Amino acid sequence: MALINCPSCNQKISDKAATCSHCGMQMQGLDKDKLASIERENRIKTKQKLMNQSLYALLLFCGGFLFLFLQDVAPGSWQYFTAITCTILGFIFYLITRVRLILAKRKSK
Ligand SMILES: [Zn+2]
Repeated sequence: MALINCPSCNQKISDKAATCSHCGMQMQGLDKDKLASIERENRIKTKQKLMNQSLYALLLFCGGFLFLFLQDVAPGSWQYFTAITCTILGFIFYLITRVRLILAKRKSK
């Protein structure tokens, strides 16, 4: 018995399993074309998910940043800390998402 990655959810499953125990995907009767198209779909889905996440991160970053400068908040106030936290978290989150996107693209080649 060997472990393979489910083509649909990418979890480790037995190659003898008839269906994936994680997502219920039918494993029998899958030919190469079908597998390739499922993998392609998953890559597109992952990429779109990451693109959405990077957009949210960018919004968080810009929101915190703009609030900080447009509202002229007093340093030390809770608004100031909230805005700083949003800016930093958004920036880190954005960087992580961009790296994951690059890695996802590299894997798909
Ligand atoms: Zn699965």
